[in-house]
Amino acid sequence: MHFEFTEEQLMIRQAARDFAQAELKPGVIERDEHQKFPAEQVKKLGELGFLGMMVSPQYGGSGMDAISYVLVMEELSKVDASASVVVSVNNSLVCYGLEKYGSEAQKQKYLIPLAKGEVIGAFCLSEPEAGSDATSQRTTAIDMGDHYLVNGTKNWITNGNSASTYIVMAQTDAAKKHHGINALIIEKGMEGFTIGPKENKMGIRGSDTHSLMFTDVKVPKENRIGDEGFGFKFAMSTLEGGRIGIAAQALGIAAGAHELAVQYAKERKAFGKTIADLQAIQFKLADMATEIEAARLLCLKAAWLKDHGKSYTQAGSMAKLFASEVAMRTTVEAVQIHGGYGFVKEYHVERLMRDAKITQIYEGTSEIQRIVISREVLK
Ligand SMILES: Cc1cc2nc3c(=O)[nH]c(=O)nc-3n(C[C@H](O)[C@H](O)[C@H](O)COP(=O)(O)OP(=O)(O)OC[C@H]3O[C@@H](n4cnc5c(N)ncnc54)[C@H](O)[C@@H]3O)c2cc1C
Repeated sequence: MHFEFTEEQLMIRQAARDFAQAELKPGVIERDEHQKFPAEQVKKLGELGFLGMMVSPQYGGSGMDAISYVLVMEELSKVDASASVVVSVNNSLVCYGLEKYGSEAQKQKYLIPLAKGEVIGAFCLSEPEAGSDATSQRTTAIDMGDHYLVNGTKNWITNGNSASTYIVMAQTDAAKKHHGINALIIEKGMEGFTIGPKENKMGIRGSDTHSLMFTDVKVPKENRIGDEGFGFKFAMSTLEGGRIGIAAQALGIAAGAHELAVQYAKERKAFGKTIADLQAIQFKLADMATEIEAARLLCLKAAWLKDHGKSYTQAGSMAKLFASEVAMRTTVEAVQIHGGYGFVKEYHVERLMRDAKITQIYEGTSEIQRIVISREVLK
């Protein structure tokens, strides 16, 4: 086993760290306050090649490995999880699925601009009545011969308004249950496709979350990804990779909060010494560091398995479950270490605490991760 990164991985991590400090940190409090999507920053992330990190250069990507993806997600998420979720969704849920399962024409038309970061994508599975139980899709895609007619509503879609390319799961043959679901590429601007107002959220407030409405949207047959009825498998397969991204996002949120807590503990004085001299604070920092390191190793292991073409179902779910719970615990303690200052926006930790919560919910709640893991354990 090798616990060392390659020169290239270290360079990529440094580039992400520098970018986060120079481009994401300024304005992150204001973007959170005003729910402002980090459009300029996302454009620059595209220029750096971070929006199509693992896509082959042949299709406009950077050809990096999943380990590098984890490193980049951690560094960006230490500072701005609203920006890092764009990186995660575009890479894992949109580009990965298109490269792995899309037709050559779909790759030429949609994947190349997505991987170059010229446009961004959205992954549309959840509905008002289909979240964890994603099999009960109410959105329909009626087969009309040369096209599908799509009707329905999708909920909570990340990049909902800022995306140009949407991968939408819809039910074509209800009798076949989840084997009757298709994954369709829908473009912004197609007739009958409307976008609801932005959700007013607790955390990742800069991220652009919307519901989407489809009324008799004509989607050409060539926009179906994979064979008829492949949509549910497509969604589950892309979400497996997505979990590595969200696990790394949770890891970054935790690591960012820990860095701030260490720094603050060394500066803040109480009872004639710094609070870092108090064993109660030292033990909190030690526990946080230990959990963060364990979360990091789980994320890297899942990424390593993916890079080596091995199954990462269980590892990805374990990484997401553990890292998201560590993110929650760590950020709560980071606020505690900051005392009253932790409760105000200027010190960043309250935002990280609010941002941490979503990592236990999206791309499969912690309960769903436990279902996936227990299924693997009991095989
Ligand atoms: C900010 C944000 C961004 C999102 N982005 C996207 C996106 O881009 N694309 C997309 O498709 N979706 C997205 N989602 C949706 C997200 O994936 C769902 O919210 C999530 O899967 C949970 O579904 P739900 O909200 O319907 O909760 P429910 O499924 O109704 O769950 C409610 C509670 O019941 C528990 N529960 C449900 N079933 C079980 C079970 N079998 N065993 C034990 N417990 C169970 C859950 O864990 C949860 O605690 C986003 C959500 C949010 C909030």
